[in-house]
Amino acid sequence: MKEFELQCPIPNASEALIKMGHGGGGRMSQRLIDDVFLKSFANDSLDARHDAAVFNVGSKRIAVSTDGFVVRPWRFPGGNIGSLAVHGTVNDLAMAGAKPLSLTAAFILEEGFAMANLQVVVESMHAAAKAAGVEIVAGDTKVVERGKGDGVYIVTTGIGEVLSTSTIGPQSVRQGDAVLLSGDVGRHSAAVMSVREGLSFEEPVLSDSATVHHPALALISEGIEVHCMRDPTRGGLCSILNEIARDAHVGITVDERSIDVQEDVRGICELLGLDPMSMACEGRFVAFVAHQHIERALGILRSFPVSAEAKLIGRVEGYPGEVCVRSQIGVTRVLDLLSGEQLPRIC
Ligand code: MG
Repeated sequence: MKEFELQCPIPNASEALIKMGHGGGGRMSQRLIDDVFLKSFANDSLDARHDAAVFNVGSKRIAVSTDGFVVRPWRFPGGNIGSLAVHGTVNDLAMAGAKPLSLTAAFILEEGFAMANLQVVVESMHAAAKAAGVEIVAGDTKVVERGKGDGVYIVTTGIGEVLSTSTIGPQSVRQGDAVLLSGDVGRHSAAVMSVREGLSFEEPVLSDSATVHHPALALISEGIEVHCMRDPTRGGLCSILNEIARDAHVGITVDERSIDVQEDVRGICELLGLDPMSMACEGRFVAFVAHQHIERALGILRSFPVSAEAKLIGRVEGYPGEVCVRSQIGVTRVLDLLSGEQLPRIC
């Protein structure tokens, strides 16, 4: 695994090396956020630790989210860095109960990246934005020297209008809430890893990269009591469930048998020694809803193709801060955060 140094003011010299693979949903990443970013930038929006910041502008509640995309390779079965950069930010806005309105995009290009490839990326961004009903209204381009980048990196920022009148975030999660998952997990990571590792299949595993704002916002408009939503991107289900358990001070128990993993994704996991629970998705989300709304919420989710396989996977119950998984054979284990990121540069 490659390492690179960041000039970063972490006081302990032994920690002053940030390793590739520690930028994601693992324990190191949490420490980076806590010890460096929150220490300096702390404010109410950041302290809420949600996918998007929510604040008032006049009488409207506005959500803002930003995300950097460095996926390697930039093109993978089922999408590329351009569509991914739209889906990721649209989804983060939706997780705060916001209807996405506009995006901005910054491109960091490596000298020598083929113009034809850039065209592919930009066209796929345009198509993804159009399908999501948003426009890319501002942008920036920077070029770095050959060998100092890896083709193309993209940063997108999104603005949305919050539709929910109640706060959607970890602070609203309650004991007994139902945990719903919108579909199978792990396909994005599996698609990227199969290209990276040169694995070939009769049918390639396609990334699940897609927007989920339509089903997410439908829950709200249909009056479902939604307490929290989050998309299991970097670090997968394992990371987001642990984050929410920690930030909401609740226990979460999920049943592995109700979490769908495609057969070929499971095969890739076994081959590469990966856990499907920690594999990134880019077109899935988890919703914490009031338990009396389970059936209605599942009905709404299943009426959208992107969440047609939605399931109840667990409950908010158990020891505060802890995530437990009932395994296929009925054994319960604690699902802990990984010490590092399982798969670097997956998004
Ligand atoms: Mg997110």
